[in-house]
Amino acid sequence: MFIDTHAHLDYVLQNVLENQTITNLDFLFTDQLESIVHISLDTDRFLKDYPFLSKHKSIYFATGFYPSNANNINFHEDKEIEKLKKVLTDYKHIALGEIGIDFKDDSYGTPMAQQSLFEKQLALAEKLKLPVIIHSRMSFNECYHSLNKYKTPAILHCFSYGIKEAELILNRGDYISFAGLLTYKKSLELQDVAQMIPLDRILFETDSPYLSPVPVRHKSNIPSYVQHTYQYFAKLRNIPIEELSLIVKDNFQKAFNI
Ligand SMILES: [Zn+2]
Repeated sequence: MFIDTHAHLDYVLQNVLENQTITNLDFLFTDQLESIVHISLDTDRFLKDYPFLSKHKSIYFATGFYPSNANNINFHEDKEIEKLKKVLTDYKHIALGEIGIDFKDDSYGTPMAQQSLFEKQLALAEKLKLPVIIHSRMSFNECYHSLNKYKTPAILHCFSYGIKEAELILNRGDYISFAGLLTYKKSLELQDVAQMIPLDRILFETDSPYLSPVPVRHKSNIPSYVQHTYQYFAKLRNIPIEELSLIVKDNFQKAFNI
């Protein structure tokens, strides 16, 4: 049984369904997929998607303001953080996220604006005792610095750094989540991390509809493709896939307090 700890089901459904309507979500749970964590990138999207997605008992929820909200002039930070607090309190969530810092290009806002939004959400997670799901691209030091100001446990989503960064995260007691990136030929640093990481610190995800793993790399990603990343890791570490699934299920329950 597999668990996808990071999927954007709103986008997945848009891609998969196009103009069809569906009445239930069972079709997502093929190929031994057991659970999905659906990530909403802001509170409005969460409120729109929740009535339908919450009908399926194996879909869990996480909501947070994605870093690019820091670049929206209509985004009034304090007011929006209040809205997030209300959503996280009124509806069952297993984490706050994805939140973080992204320096890929200018579209994410200034470093200062991103840091401010990130840290306000870290403070909120600490207050609500929720773990955070971190989005960090080309920004390890900045994210790590902010994270260390708060006591909230973290899941580093779609980890894309090397051993040095992984060790700092592991020393905090946090979790590293591998996406399809792990299966790409060029991801040598990440594969080194997968070789050394203690098994009780790992999670797997698709980040669907993005980042499809090999061998379905050129298709739009769906949660059940998480099996390919599990299989890649199992082979790399020479562990039976059934054993790996059980370990990851245990990690999932611990990381998200399920
Ligand atoms: Zn994501």
